Amino acid sequence: VVPPPTVLHAFREAVARAPERTAVAYFDGRIGYAEADALSDSAAGHLAARGVRRGDRVAVMLQNTPHFVLAVLAAWKAGAVVVPLNPMYKSGEVGHILRDSGAAALVCDGGAWTAYLREAARDSAVRTVLTSSDRDFQTRDDPRVFGPAPASASAAAPAAATESARPFVPAQADAPDRESAVGPGAGGAAAGPTVADLLTVARGRRPAPDGPPLTAADTALISYTSGTSGTPKGAMNPHGALTYNAVRQVTSHPLPEGATYFALAPLFHITGMVCELAACFANAGTLVLAHRFDAGAVLESFLEHRPAYTVGPATAFMALAAHPGVTADHFASFQVISSGGAPLPPALVERLRTAFGFYLRNGYGLTECTAPCASVPVHLEAPVDPASGTLSVGLPGADTVVRILDERGAEVPFGETGEIAVRGPQVVPGYWGLPAESAKAFPGGELRTGDVGFMDPDGWLYVVDRKKDMINASGFKVWPREVEDVLYTHPAVREAAVVGVPDAYRGESVKAYVSLRPGTSVEPAELAAYCAERIAAYKYPRQVEILPVLPKTTSGKILRRELRDRG
Ligand code: ATP
Repeated sequence: VVPPPTVLHAFREAVARAPERTAVAYFDGRIGYAEADALSDSAAGHLAARGVRRGDRVAVMLQNTPHFVLAVLAAWKAGAVVVPLNPMYKSGEVGHILRDSGAAALVCDGGAWTAYLREAARDSAVRTVLTSSDRDFQTRDDPRVFGPAPASASAAAPAAATESARPFVPAQADAPDRESAVGPGAGGAAAGPTVADLLTVARGRRPAPDGPPLTAADTALISYTSGTSGTPKGAMNPHGALTYNAVRQVTSHPLPEGATYFALAPLFHITGMVCELAACFANAGTLVLAHRFDAGAVLESFLEHRPAYTVGPATAFMALAAHPGVTADHFASFQVISSGGAPLPPALVERLRTAFGFYLRNGYGLTECTAPCASVPVHLEAPVDPASGTLSVGLPGADTVVRILDERGAEVPFGETGEIAVRGPQVVPGYWGLPAESAKAFPGGELRTGDVGFMDPDGWLYVVDRKKDMINASGFKVWPREVEDVLYTHPAVREAAVVGVPDAYRGESVKAYVSLRPGTSVEPAELAAYCAERIAAYKYPRQVEILPVLPKTTSGKILRRELRDRG
């Protein structure tokens, strides 16, 4: 399959092939391909009329809603580059990304356009704000942002902030689950539009701008890394990288045309953008959205829409598996379920297979390689390394070369560990506005991932851990992943994270944080002893602390850094 040059090409082909097919399903609403085309034309018209031109950056700060999809299509139709923003970001984080990217426009939820976002936009180049409200995308001309500085920052909010807000995520009894699976909450259910309301936009349809069509080399996204290790940097993902990964890595799984894709990963994260949105459009499929992750709502939606494909971080599957009332039937419609973007404990794969009858396919990628660069082909299962117990992340994709390098940058033999380096059509050309960092991270166009791993003679890739997370205990190297994988085999452990903490005698010592599965209990000392029986004496955790939930990014990654800071 030859990847289309851009996601927009893929989308337009789908419009031509199946104009009546549902492109986006959201709770009880549906938008067909032809409708989505018209709606995004309209929004592109808004952007163009407000001066957004080819190559301008449009920041999109929305949950998994139809507006997200329409805004992204609209920005590309206007020739712009999309800068996805995590809606959980606080003012300072948003401000940094708006300023760094030089975004000319911001698309956000009507209910979110409150003082903190206005504050964030104030020192940026943003001159146009489209808010998704109950009825439409609306253009904001807020003098408090775009005019002279206000006398008081607490001046009354504009109309959008007080518009009726309809919560879409029902209140759940398992709030801690929901929070834990996707990270800290935004402080209440966000408001969103109804799909029926969105259709009113089509009536005020304006023509989208003409211009030279985008090409595979044009930048589709500036994706800011999730910040698990420092200040976010904007990786410039070209359109061709998105479609390459969408077609080769994801739709190479034999899904029928028009298959239903469930967006478990957030669309603002590269995994969601590529494996869900781009892959779905490349297959003229239906994209099912459920706002933000909520285990109960997700499981209900599985039964309603009977999806064929989904992808999410391991923590999302831990939350789904722990949800009351979950059964194998919830997963019965899937042909492919993938885990990506974070370590996958082999014990979880086995638990899911035994309890629910599906095989969770591992996949490895980074923002810098536009989501996957290695995955488990659909007719195979990933091997587990007998020595370390690590589950392979898969085989490198076609045209993708993965090398394992030593400290001097020389390739090491099979089985030896070193830094993982990736070259291929999905690797980005660099970071936005950071030539020195880009030269360092992509020497000769090859991505140095900062991950340590090894490859077996059959070409299966194994990720040991992040280079910077290695623990040095009395001079012994301890990789947190190995200890976490052991903890995950304990029946009471739901989530585990291992970090190094300062130790006067050893330099660093191993500390484990865990959360427990509902209805279980275990003493910290018992967990330490459990590990001591299974791994070398220098590796087992000297301290174990049990927390109700572990801190995570909104894309579901456990934040070891935050736990390290706790000590
Ligand atoms: P930052 O760069 O700011 O720290 P981040 O690294 O979390 O953020 P991403 O690009 O989302 O940003 O994550 C990529 C990282 O996720 C990889 O470098 C790797 O450490 C980890 N990862 C991804 N997939 C897997 C996997 N299947 N197994 C183990 N680790 C994985």
